[in-house]
Order: sequence, then C-alpha cells, then structure tokens
Amino acid sequence: MTKPLIIITGASSGIGAAIAKTFGAAGHPLLLLARRVAKMEAFGLPNTLCLKVDVTDRAQLIAAVKEGEDKFGPADAIINNAGCMLLGTLADQEPAEWDHMIDVNVKGLLNSVRAVLPAMKARRRGTIINMGSIDGRRSYTPHRVYCGTKFAVHAFSEALRAEVAADNVRVIVIAPGAVATELVSHTTSQALIDAHYEALNAPHSILDPQEIANIVLFAYQQPQTTNIRGIVVAGTGQVQ
Ligand code: NDP
Repeated sequence: MTKPLIIITGASSGIGAAIAKTFGAAGHPLLLLARRVAKMEAFGLPNTLCLKVDVTDRAQLIAAVKEGEDKFGPADAIINNAGCMLLGTLADQEPAEWDHMIDVNVKGLLNSVRAVLPAMKARRRGTIINMGSIDGRRSYTPHRVYCGTKFAVHAFSEALRAEVAADNVRVIVIAPGAVATELVSHTTSQALIDAHYEALNAPHSILDPQEIANIVLFAYQQPQTTNIRGIVVAGTGQVQ
C-alpha cells in the first residue's frame, strides 16, 4: 500500500460513490463517510474504511478522520462532496429545508475542511477538493437557497486557497452541471422535480457521475505544485 489515504464525504451514492470507486481503482486507501454505511460497504473496495458520519456533526467527523488516519496514515486529500438539494421558492419553501441545505452544504463542508486542515498545513502537503456546482456560478430558479449554498462553497474555497497557498496545500473546486444522481429526488415538490427534468430534456444535458469522478482524479493527479483551481463541467447539451 504505497499510495496515500483519500477521504471522501457523501460517498454512499451518485458522484461520491463514483469518486470512491475511481480512487479505489487507482490504488488509494479510502476513508468513506456518509450516513448510509451499508451502501458504501457494498462497493467491496479494498483498503477502505466506511464510517457512518453526518457532516453536520463536527465531533463525529473529527473522530472519523482520526480513525481513518490511525489505520491508513495521513490523508493526502479530502473530497468534500456531501450535499443536498431541496428545490423551492422563498415564498413557499419550509424554512427547515433552507436550514438543512445550509447546515449540510456550507457548515458540513467547513467541518470537513477543519477536520484535516491543521495537519495538512503542518505537513506542508495536502489537497482539498470541494464540490461546488454550476449553481455556484450563476443562479437558477427554483434553486434559490441551494444556489446560495453553492456560491458560498465557491467563495469560501477561493479565500481558503489564498490562506493555505504558502503552506503547499491545494484547494480545488469542481462545479458540475446536471449529473444523473439521487440529488433532485429529495425535493418535496413533485411539480418542481418535473420542471427540473423538463428543463434538461435536450440530448446530452445530464452527465454520468463517472465523468465527474474522472475529472476529480485528473485534478488530484497533477503535481502538488500545480493547483487546478476550478473546473466547470456540464453536458454539451445543457443550455443554462
Ligand atoms: P446524491 O444525493 O446522490 O449524493 C449525496 C451524497 O451526500 C450522499 O452520499 C449522501 O449520503 C451524502 N450526504 C447528504 N447529507 C449528508 C450528511 N448530512 N452527512 C453526510 N453525508 C451526507 O447527489 P450527488 O451525487 O449529485 O451530490 C454530490 C455532490 O455533488 C453534492 O454536493 C451536490 O450538491 C453536488 N452536485 C451535484 C450535481 C447534480 O446534478 N447531481 C450538480 C452539481 C453539484 P447519505 O445520505 O448516505 O448520508
């Protein structure tokens, strides 16, 4: 086992699951974190520890990172991918849904960064890959609060990159367009789910999660002295 540990949050489905399998195939030991442990264990990846973690629970995250590093050595990268999207309008959406998106997409990501950053700075090496979105570059209706959380991910990542540049720690933001995953299914309004897919019904509008995983691996595999700061990627047919 010569390659270093990679930590992936939100590894139980969609993009995170594809990233886990891709980094596993590249020979990395893995620490996979999400609430649905059985789904991650079912991948059957070698040199992999799967732990039940809610990224909104800071203490749980820090304990999980310690357990993973005790087993496999220091993490060379964390891929902060856990996220949720609940489409809605500001007038109608239950505020509890905003709270949940802000807690998971913003505070959860901050928790994940903090769990590895001091040690990466001390080692003067590491890579933080944050899952942003095309929704973090421009606003779509009815993605209002979700867009806000992803703009926050992009803004925070830019500031963090500057903060740790002199420590030889890379910060990379991946901003996908539409990808075929469970993400939209958590929206509570079926009408909004239908409208979402209606807007994406042109051919080649929705990417496969594997395509995002390949890009994440590519960005990570550049030399430590090369920081691909951001990649925006969408299906060729996606108009917006
Ligand atoms: P999925 O819904 O398939 O995956 C979301 C992942 O996040 C799951 O593994 C889920 O695991 C995990 N997760 C959610 N809440 C928590 C939590 N509180 N604690 C720990 N893990 C959590 O969607 P995607 O794969 O599409 O989403 C992955 C990332 O990609 C998200 O950040 C999303 O915003 C982003 N993205 C997705 C796009 C798309 O079109 N699909 C486009 C642009 C960005 P579990 O439920 O087991 O905890």
